[in-house]
Amino acid sequence: MQQLRDQLARITDLNHAAAILEWDQETYMPEGGAASRARQVATLRTMAHELLTSDLTAGALDAARPETDVDQDLIRIARRDLEKATRVPSTLINAISEAQGHAKGAWQKARATNTFSVFMPHLERIVDLSLEHAEALGYDDEPYDALLDIHEPDMKTSDVVATFAALKDVLVPLVRDLTKSAASTRKTGPDNVVHGHFPHDEQWDFGLRVARDFGYDLTRGRQDHSAHPFSTTFSIDDVRITTRIDESFFNPGFFGTLHEAGHAMYEQGIDPALERTPLADGTSLGIHESQSRMWENQIGRSLPFWEHYMPSAREAFPGALADVSAEMMFRAVNRVEPSLIRVEADEVTYNLHIMLRFELERAMLAGEAAIGDLPAAWNDRMEAWLGIRPTNDADGVLQDIHWSLGALGYFPTYALGNLISAQLFEAMHRDIPDMDTHIRAGEFAPILAWLRRNVHVWGRRRSATDILKATCGTGLDAAPWIRYVKAKYTPYTIG
Ligand code: ZN
Repeated sequence: MQQLRDQLARITDLNHAAAILEWDQETYMPEGGAASRARQVATLRTMAHELLTSDLTAGALDAARPETDVDQDLIRIARRDLEKATRVPSTLINAISEAQGHAKGAWQKARATNTFSVFMPHLERIVDLSLEHAEALGYDDEPYDALLDIHEPDMKTSDVVATFAALKDVLVPLVRDLTKSAASTRKTGPDNVVHGHFPHDEQWDFGLRVARDFGYDLTRGRQDHSAHPFSTTFSIDDVRITTRIDESFFNPGFFGTLHEAGHAMYEQGIDPALERTPLADGTSLGIHESQSRMWENQIGRSLPFWEHYMPSAREAFPGALADVSAEMMFRAVNRVEPSLIRVEADEVTYNLHIMLRFELERAMLAGEAAIGDLPAAWNDRMEAWLGIRPTNDADGVLQDIHWSLGALGYFPTYALGNLISAQLFEAMHRDIPDMDTHIRAGEFAPILAWLRRNVHVWGRRRSATDILKATCGTGLDAAPWIRYVKAKYTPYTIG
């Protein structure tokens, strides 16, 4: 076991060192450092891959004699990582990264000039390589299973299809109702209080203060600026977040900080005994996103939350929020309005953006959609589901970077995160019946303790499905999220 642990610790160290270089690239590195930084990161990542797929790791895995449950989980997960890493031939890995290099530039150009045809041949190539990748990894039912499994281990495409279908039946009419009422109240509504002047430093301090109240430990973390907010882990004792501040709009900086702090608290809460092993990581992207979404939406966009924080928000932003009540703020940060751009979408419409991409990805991989027909297929779904139609492809099929990065199978995890957050939140409500009272008092310790115990501490020892079964008694289920949005938004459809 010790030999295996030593080997896995070296691999973990290399990957975390690469993560530090990547974090620096997004936060402090001068532009000129890009080329050498790319080489440095590639060197470390390649070394980690070589160590993982070496005879030494395979030999240590075969020779290891587990003495504890953790040992057993470590062997199971390390073996799975090793198998996945060796199943894909290096020629295919190189072909994929080369195709991504070309596709990213083409996507940028296509988006800037609104010309899908510039990106089309690259997307065709990416889809072909994704199919090869899926064949190499192996799957039970359809190629999409293999790609989904990279991000959401043990989740089947058929589970996602069934869950999304249930969701769509409820969501499309709900959005229609909410949009109608929003249109009728917009003229008089208080929704615009989140637009105004919110000075940078006050936003920074206010967001971090709330993140600290939630339980984000700043002696083992920090926040910096970056163009695209993210969280990253160098060890259980060093988990960092970044944010982006817009002085004229309160939401992106504040909710971005809460979101990333949710991700970071997950990784800070992993059992210290798992440090320097592959178990010290989020178990799936869906579970990871459930943590960020819960703190951001179920808590940060709740009325009890604003009843607690509104006095300090008024103090921090006297110019913009002096006359704003908790109820007004609650309504302003929960405004529902169908929009074309996923990253700007509200909580209710967001999942429809994801389901649209999921349907198209599956159709592309199954050969059921010609790549040339994608823009129209996209726009038709937007119109049918959200009632709005993009007038150009930059606001439609070309808006996201993911496909140019070869990341097919990734999008569903965003929606899974929303659904799982509601499943966990309902289970938590059963265990902490006076939760609203706690939130209204700014007491988040019981919530964090529940998440620590049931989710964080396990790292990768429990899969997403294991966690859901243990806490909710079911697998993936859209019903709790549907109950959550209906309870939160239905009062506002009247008048
Ligand atoms: Zn996230």
